Amino acid sequence: MGYGVRFLICWGLVLMSAACSERTAQTDGEQVDLIAHGRWVVTMDAGASILEHGAVAVKDGQILAVGPGAEIIAKYTATKTISGDNRVLMPGLINGHTHTSMVLFRGMADDLELMTWLQNYIFPMEGQFVNAEFIEIGAKLACLEMLRGGTTSIVDMYFYPEVSAKVFEACGLRAILGAPMIDFPSPGFSGWDDSFAGGVDFIKNWQGRSSRIIPALAPHAPYTVSPDHLRDVVEMAGALNAPITMHLAEDRAETNMIQQNYGTTPVRHVSELGMLDTPMIAAHMVWPDEEEIAMLAKSKVSAIHNPTSNMKLGAGISPVPAMLAAGIKVGLGTDGAASNNDLDMWEEIRLAALLHKLGSNDPTVMPAITALRLATSLGAEAIGLGDKVGSLEIGKQADMIQVDMSHPHLQPVYDVVSHLVYAVHASDVVTTIIDGQVLMENGIVLTLDATAITAEVTAKADEIRTALSIDSE
Ligand SMILES: [Zn+2]
Repeated sequence: MGYGVRFLICWGLVLMSAACSERTAQTDGEQVDLIAHGRWVVTMDAGASILEHGAVAVKDGQILAVGPGAEIIAKYTATKTISGDNRVLMPGLINGHTHTSMVLFRGMADDLELMTWLQNYIFPMEGQFVNAEFIEIGAKLACLEMLRGGTTSIVDMYFYPEVSAKVFEACGLRAILGAPMIDFPSPGFSGWDDSFAGGVDFIKNWQGRSSRIIPALAPHAPYTVSPDHLRDVVEMAGALNAPITMHLAEDRAETNMIQQNYGTTPVRHVSELGMLDTPMIAAHMVWPDEEEIAMLAKSKVSAIHNPTSNMKLGAGISPVPAMLAAGIKVGLGTDGAASNNDLDMWEEIRLAALLHKLGSNDPTVMPAITALRLATSLGAEAIGLGDKVGSLEIGKQADMIQVDMSHPHLQPVYDVVSHLVYAVHASDVVTTIIDGQVLMENGIVLTLDATAITAEVTAKADEIRTALSIDSE
């Protein structure tokens, strides 16, 4: 069948894409694995190109072509085609800082200051309940929530990473992860020596094992890990060629503790330990001063902005516009679900766009496209995967999502980027694709059993509730 005839058939039908997918499978163009269409293809490339009625062709997990839908279906024959009617096709979202399995502590301790929340609630609850089983159930629930909401890459810091790595590998997620290394007893460890050794073992066991799983060193924070131990982390990161992720400059209480103990500020403190000369994904970065922003701009450190967590814990407003202006790579994260209380990146995008306007009394300080970049192209650079993901460009891995724009709260569409930042909900995501693998289609996650996960989560929550003598309602 000639291309002209095929176009007539396709364009002549109301259910255009379903018909097109059948027809395109019968043509003799170059064979590809997948063609995904978009009424709007929001590429997030350097020029923020948006293609109307566009498509992306995928082969062997990578983006082979991006262009007008008609050209793509004329040139390629796909094993699978996904319709783009009323849908945005765009890069998957990048959650640069989270603690996935904390979803099982969702809603247990709210409205507290960071140190009170951590020391009186989170650390004791983790000591009592976190084990390999807890992590497996929590990681599965987190995967379900994240794939459902269009998150395709994460940076995760939580216990038993060998368990969560297996869950992420199986559900199809892309993850950089490490065990929190900390100077005092934590789940599975008695203190620094074994938590550091465990973190290093995890890296040795997982480096090179999966193209989607990147093990990292994850010292908890400069106020929970001694200077000598942080020096050991830097040395080990170099020896293993592994990234570091750590909380840094999160809260005024942290600044006071570092000032009292070391007579300096958190960023200067870790700079003196050599941590700015090694690739590090630093979560929060709420309190760098002007000079520290200049130091960070020249360093190998990126910052992950966590607006919900910072607002909820009253940590402060991170100087994101100033950091971006200085050239620091800034990404976006949810933090754990105990301080958020979900893993919804759309909420972070929206709050990033709003918070800085409020903080500066300047509505021009964080345009919608910049907020969207924090969760896509800039976020990818911030986590060290800028050459692999974060935009829909030829040669990148096919990590992409579709957002259904047909809902009442998304009508009419004048400016698609405006809607993605200010109006879209996580539940509007209908397709999630990672490495070219379709992990969610029409809102159904294909790699996880939602019913079984809900049953496991309910049983685990009952166990926790009973142990803490909490009434169920
Ligand atoms: Zn955190």
